[in-house]
Parts: sequence; structure tokens; C-alpha cells
Amino acid sequence: MQFKDSLSLAEELDRKDPLSSYRNRFYFPQHHGEDAIYFCGNSLGLQPKTVKSYIEQELEDWKNLGVEGHFAGKNPWMYYHHFVAEQAASLVGASKEEVVVMNTLSVNLNLMMVSFYQPSNARYKIMIEADAFPSDHYAVQEQAKFHGFDPKDAIIQLYPREGEYTLRTEDILARIQEHGDSLALVMLGGVNYYTGQFFKLEEITKAGHEVGAFVGFDLAHAAGNLPLELHAWNIDFATWCSYKYLNSGPGGVSGVFIHEKHHKNRDLPRFAGWWGHDEKTRFKMAKDFVPMESAAAWQMSNAQILPMAAHWASLEIFKEVGIKSLREKSLLLTGFLEFLLDQNEFGFKIITPRNTEERGCQLSLLTEANGKDLFKKLQYEGVIADWREPNVIRIAPVPLYNSFKDVFRFVEILKS
Ligand SMILES: *Cc1c(COP(=O)(O)O)cnc(C)c1O
Repeated sequence: MQFKDSLSLAEELDRKDPLSSYRNRFYFPQHHGEDAIYFCGNSLGLQPKTVKSYIEQELEDWKNLGVEGHFAGKNPWMYYHHFVAEQAASLVGASKEEVVVMNTLSVNLNLMMVSFYQPSNARYKIMIEADAFPSDHYAVQEQAKFHGFDPKDAIIQLYPREGEYTLRTEDILARIQEHGDSLALVMLGGVNYYTGQFFKLEEITKAGHEVGAFVGFDLAHAAGNLPLELHAWNIDFATWCSYKYLNSGPGGVSGVFIHEKHHKNRDLPRFAGWWGHDEKTRFKMAKDFVPMESAAAWQMSNAQILPMAAHWASLEIFKEVGIKSLREKSLLLTGFLEFLLDQNEFGFKIITPRNTEERGCQLSLLTEANGKDLFKKLQYEGVIADWREPNVIRIAPVPLYNSFKDVFRFVEILKS
């Protein structure tokens, strides 16, 4: 695609965009009576207009049926997690048995490490990106401590090379080799939240397995952003939140993937609760835990119906559009933004990989000293983006609801 810095090109791209009508399915924050330029879907996705009716349905069943809603509701709560598992699974390239929607992300990350971080004195290290999301750092550090290891020794952080911002795959693979027998777990963000780098999940998984480690990913910034093939890539586990690209509301539920090969392995420790018990006999209320032979076995509690209803509403839209066509538009939309930024001398640097295979929709802009002022001016002009200390503005044009004109207007505002 040959881009041009012109409004008429932006308008033409919007006219030709097969997904342009999806914008109308979402509520946009308003700025002086117009839709704000919302580039913050990587932090909190916009509200689908259908969410309210999905939640209202469950409120109605609760109002009219009380406890009977578990079985007699339109969408019986007893099975509610099944309704979202199938669609969540297709989004990440997994079978519905491999995915369960439950809890919230950091909770699930910890639960996954209960199963997949089983250190011994010889093999106890966890590998993570140095600039991983703080919550993930806290989780791996405390998991190491919980097992009696010193995080300073047990946590291997991956740093970019001097003068670079993102990690080279060859360096990640080399570090895995280097720590080999002492490596228990490789746990990276699938897309790094700060730089927007999309890692080579399959290659990393293969390398981790070759040295005998488990490999899992935090997909908070990947789910709903990029096509994923978690099953085929042989990843052990993954978890993600639903409120970023998956537009399911603040504090929304989280998705978990556990590869089929682990479902029957009763040697894997896990924390348990009644919702992980075999569904057929769950209400016999027996004392012995008989887990499901699927990711659902990791559920501890009964499902959080109201936030799950919001998630379901949103997943229906993804099902309709398909992640492949979202990705096609995303490549163009973010490509257009990159082109316009490169055309102008704004005094900041794009630290997200230039290779489109190593990124999703987000571009991270490293600003100079006045970055915070620039960010505030953007806010004043109705651009909702995201500031990360010390000096990065993250811009995420989301293919589901952002337009080429949004991108064009944003750059016009930058120019002024
Ligand atoms: C957003 C995000 C989180 C947030 O975790 P919650 O438990 O949902 O609050 C954690 N890790 C990463 C990588 C994230 O991007």
C-alpha cells in the first residue's frame, strides 16, 4: 500500500474498509460534542452497545427466578462459562476444552504458576522480560519466594541490547540455552505492554521445551489484537484479560489456556474449588475432588455472571468479524499511522518494531523531555491515549472501532 499524507486518502481508506460499520457498535467518549480520538483500547476497550442488554438479561433472570436461574435461566448460570469458552478459544487458536474464562488476570497468572512453576534445587529459574508489566514481575518474584528461592537469583530478566529497545529473538533463545537445566519456566508477555513487541511465541516455546522448561505467556496485549495459535504452538499455558482489546469492561474476567496435553496429568499440582469438579457429579457434594479433564478443572469458584455477560456480548462481535479480517485492517491502520509519523519531524522515536510481524496495532512513541506536556496537549485536543513513565506515549489504533480518519486527525493535531 502506497500511503499519502492526505485527508482524501484517509477518507478513501474508510470508504473501502469492510469493517467501517463496526465503529457504530461502540460508545465513544465525547469531546466538545464529537467522538474523541480514542487510541486507548490497549488499556480499556470501548463499550459495545450490546453489553447492557446482555447484563440486563441476567439481572432479569435473577429478579424473576432467584436461585432457579442456575438451571432455568435463559442462559443457565450453571453452564455460563461454556458459553464464552468456545468463542474465547477460537480467538486464541485453541479447542474449547483448553480454555476457561474465570477470575482476573493476575490471579490466573498466579494460579498457572501453582501448576507450572514447580521448582527443584537444580531447576528453579523463571525468565521474564525486564520491562514486563509490573504485576507480572511481582507475581514471578513472589512465586519464587513462596518456594524458598531468592528472586534476585531465580528471576532471569531479558534486557534489550545496548542502544536497542526491543528484544531480539536470537538473544531470547540464547538466554534460554544458557540457563538450560536451571530454567523451570519461561513466562513472557505475548505482546510486551510497553514496547508493543510481539514475540515469536512458537520459537520461544520450542526452545523452552528443549531445555526442559515450561513455557507460558501473558496475552493481555495480544488477545483480540493478533491471530494466535496457542494449541498448535504447543504453549503450556496462557492467560489474558478481557478489558483491553476484548472490550469487556473495567475489571473484566480473564481467559486461561491450558494445553490439552496437561489435562489428565494429576501430578500437576493445582489449587481447587468446587467448580473444577466433574460437572456431572458436582452437586452430589462429595468430599473427594474429581476434576474435569479440561481447563475447566482449574476453576475454583462459580462463574461471575455479570462481568461474563459483558464479555459474551463483546465476544459475539469478534465472532462475527473474525480476528483475521481485524488483523488485515490493523496492518493498514497502524501502517498508515507509522507512515504519517515518519513523514513529519515530531522529535520522538517509534520504539515498536518496524517489522509488522513483530507487532500488533500499538505504536509506542519515545518522547523527549517535554513528552508529558505533549501528552497533556493531546488530551486537551480530545485525543485519548496512554502515558507510561518515564517518557512513552502508547497509541493503539484499534481496527474494530478506529478509523483512518482518526489516525489522520491525530497526526494533524500533532502537527499543530
Ligand atoms: C493489563 C495487564 C495486567 C493487569 O492485570 P489485572 O490482574 O487484570 O489487573 C497484568 N499483566 C499485563 C501484562 C497486563 O498488560
